[in-house]
Amino acid sequence: MQKIKYKAKEWDYSFKSMTWWNRDKVKNAKVMVVGCGALGNEVIKNLVLMNVSNIVIVDFDEIEYSNLSRSILFDHSHVTNSSRKVDAVKHKVEQINPTVTVEALHADVCHGVGLSYFEEVDVIISCLDNRQARLFLNRYAFQFSTPWIDGAIENVSGTVKIYRKGENCYECNLTDIERQEIKAKLACADVAAQYESHGSIPTTSISASIIGAIQVQEALKIIHGYEDELMTQSLYYEGFHNLYLNYTETMTNPDCHCQMEDIHLLRTELSHKATIESLFEEMHKSLEESDPIIMLRSPLILKVQTMNQDKTAEISIPKYKLKDYFDEDLMILNQVDRIDHSFSDKTLTLEDIGIASNDIIKYISKEGTMKFLKLKLNS
Ligand SMILES: [Zn+2]
Repeated sequence: MQKIKYKAKEWDYSFKSMTWWNRDKVKNAKVMVVGCGALGNEVIKNLVLMNVSNIVIVDFDEIEYSNLSRSILFDHSHVTNSSRKVDAVKHKVEQINPTVTVEALHADVCHGVGLSYFEEVDVIISCLDNRQARLFLNRYAFQFSTPWIDGAIENVSGTVKIYRKGENCYECNLTDIERQEIKAKLACADVAAQYESHGSIPTTSISASIIGAIQVQEALKIIHGYEDELMTQSLYYEGFHNLYLNYTETMTNPDCHCQMEDIHLLRTELSHKATIESLFEEMHKSLEESDPIIMLRSPLILKVQTMNQDKTAEISIPKYKLKDYFDEDLMILNQVDRIDHSFSDKTLTLEDIGIASNDIIKYISKEGTMKFLKLKLNS
């Protein structure tokens, strides 16, 4: 009998015979990838090929020539045009698999990504190269009980670690020296809290392929709900001597911040484009909050001075954005980390004071308890 040839036109047709595969779970999953360097390229490539249909990508860098040798989603035209990594990745991914939706956030994960993203995604895959960003990611992910998978590469080696609330915590496993280094960088007296620059770690696309592939395999287990099959130990891979080592981190300590209780989200129809004044009015009307105190994720800088003290300026710029406005280092003379009714310029928008699109505002209510207000999405 002659075989009838079936022309499969479904992207994931060949996956159907894999017993562990669930098409609907993968198609409906939402994954955030933080960092679009060598590792991020490999992770995103794998997610797209596996047909994970909703991907949020976060990065604030532009593409440089040195990125090309280890980033499959970048090409020479991106270097010529100084393309942003997130834009290039989104464009390329949509060419490869048009059924995938990519939301590109050109932002710093420490301050510029709305907290709703951390709440809404099923899993976060970290492709970062610095500790400060991982620390922020760890805190935000645990705030919303979202698991995150960390990957790191250097030369021909790499690590993969899974962090889940109550199971394992990045911050609890930092050494004293690492803590001091982070503290010193975050407390930097000059302009913004600048963290270590990208692109300086010598590595290869091969290390990125191996580590990125394991990260995505673990992410697929989380998406499918195969919790028992997840890596229970961290993995260290060394390619020169072909070593694979599993090791256990110290998990969480008793006073770990990640033991925080699950939060209840309040909602508003306001977006980050609303003014401070309208937020206070809305909170008074809908939530009966007469005197809330808005907690800022990044301090708002109100007055700066040049290092030689010959000029001062009154401004309203979130600390993490100062570097976008000023080329020189500045002394900060006045800053606030919370906003209440006494704040002088309530015509500023929430965006002006550092609240991002799709953000969740943390505030202290009249009873003195911490509450969370989710802004209108995708505005
Ligand atoms: Zn902890």
